[in-house]
Amino acid sequence: MDFALDEIDQEIAGLARTFVDREIVPHIRDWDRAESVDISIVGRLEELGFLGLGIAEEYGGTPSSFQAYAAVMEELGRGDNSIRGIVSVSLGLVAKSIASHGTEEQRSHWLPRLTSGEALGCFGLTEPDSGSDPGSLRTRARRDGDDWVLDGEKMFITNGTWAAVALLFARTSDEGGRGVTAFLVPTDVPGFTARSIEGKLGLRGQATAALSLEGVRVPDSARLGDLGRGLPIALEALTKGRISVAASSVGVAQAALDVALGYATERRQFGGPIAAKQLVQELLADSAVEIDAARLLTRRAAWGVDQGTALRALSLHVSMAKLAASEAAVAVTNRCLQVLGGYGFIDEFPLGKYLRDARVLTLYEGTSQIQKLIIGRELTGLNAM
Ligand SMILES: Cc1cc2nc3c(=O)[nH]c(=O)nc-3n(C[C@H](O)[C@H](O)[C@H](O)COP(=O)(O)OP(=O)(O)OC[C@H]3O[C@@H](n4cnc5c(N)ncnc54)[C@H](O)[C@@H]3O)c2cc1C
Repeated sequence: MDFALDEIDQEIAGLARTFVDREIVPHIRDWDRAESVDISIVGRLEELGFLGLGIAEEYGGTPSSFQAYAAVMEELGRGDNSIRGIVSVSLGLVAKSIASHGTEEQRSHWLPRLTSGEALGCFGLTEPDSGSDPGSLRTRARRDGDDWVLDGEKMFITNGTWAAVALLFARTSDEGGRGVTAFLVPTDVPGFTARSIEGKLGLRGQATAALSLEGVRVPDSARLGDLGRGLPIALEALTKGRISVAASSVGVAQAALDVALGYATERRQFGGPIAAKQLVQELLADSAVEIDAARLLTRRAAWGVDQGTALRALSLHVSMAKLAASEAAVAVTNRCLQVLGGYGFIDEFPLGKYLRDARVLTLYEGTSQIQKLIIGRELTGLNAM
């Protein structure tokens, strides 16, 4: 296994590193306080090609390896997980699902808009009463002549109030997981409303929304993939999406360690820098080990995608990476906050924001418990979900 990035991928990752340091890091406190990022950042993401990574050039994309995509997600996560989420959902979950499962008409209509940032996408699987168990979702799509009419509610939808297109999963029959179909729904159609969810612990700059669908009418040409094949499309997107969450976890943990290292070297107590105290070094050493382990697991998973590993086999390494990296992000940001003492608790330093933003990483795109169940299933061959 060779996880080293080739020259082109290194260039893409370097571009992301410079962009994050110059154009994201200086703004994160203001965006966190304002509870909104400056959405014009989408234009910069497009200029840098980050909204089209891995999408064919004919649709405005930038051909690149999945490892390069994961490296960019780590850098964006190091800057601000709210920004990483914009790309990860619009490109990683929506555009890539259209590229893999869409008709030529769907690809040529949506992909140039998504890769150019003219449109953002959102991914609507979760509902108020259906989270870890998406096979229980209740949003209905009813056939009416050549159209489909959708009714239901979606919850916690990233980019929900910003998106021009929603990839929605709706029940077309009562056959449990086999009765779910995917639809590409323009968000300006009558009956579609997005309500911003306020008061989040972290990711305050990101638009997270509850969606309401009341008699939303779309033609059959809006259906993505075959009837009843919605959940496999969602699970394929989420399996690869979890690598982005893992990469972002590594990024935020690295950001926290970088701040803690700088602070520990400068801060003096008991006549010397706190970095010289053994118990502070323990906090830093434990963090560095967890970050490196998480980064290697994440790179192995991304490398697996580039090797064309079958989804089921890939899911073991992906779940290991997502579980280890997201739990490390919470532990490391918390530990690094400790290094800053009282200064970790005020937003003169970003440790509080890093910890709050990290907290969601063990929850979305499959909780840590769900990752353990996937790992257990792959080890034993028995499904405990
Ligand atoms: C900020 C944010 C953004 C999000 N963005 C999106 C998005 O863009 N699109 C989207 O579709 N969803 C999104 N989500 C939803 C997210 O994926 C869900 O919150 C997550 O899947 C968990 O579902 P739930 O919240 O309903 O929790 P539940 O499924 O109700 O789980 C509650 C608890 O029970 C545990 N649990 C559940 N089942 C089992 C089991 N079988 N064994 C052991 N433990 C179990 C869970 O691990 C958890 O601890 C987002 C969530 C947040 C917070």
